[in-house]
Amino acid sequence: MGDEEQQQEEEKDELEAAGLPFACHICRGDFNRPVVTKCEHYFCEKCALQRYAKNTKCAVCDAQTHGIFKPATKLQELLQVRAARLAAEAKEQQEQQGEIQDDNDEQ
Ligand SMILES: [Zn+2]
Ligand SMILES: [Zn+2]
Repeated sequence: MGDEEQQQEEEKDELEAAGLPFACHICRGDFNRPVVTKCEHYFCEKCALQRYAKNTKCAVCDAQTHGIFKPATKLQELLQVRAARLAAEAKEQQEQQGEIQDDNDEQ
């Protein structure tokens, strides 16, 4: 079996490809300074700390976190990669639309 990777499938989201969550389990929003627990669940730093003040267990799996939240650097990286890709895609679309109505002066 060759191990050449075929990328014919729909482009996978960077986070999905890495098996990482898209959104914080607590606020259901985009991660803001993501941290990871010992049980490898991801939260915004703020959500994790707020939650810990009331309940020291993980909001996803109920494991004891012992207040250990490590910066989720990998997730943060991928979020940045994804944000950059989305921005580039949006720009591309804008440019394509711009070609249709080409009444922009270049001065
Ligand atoms: Zn959150
Ligand atoms: Zn957990």
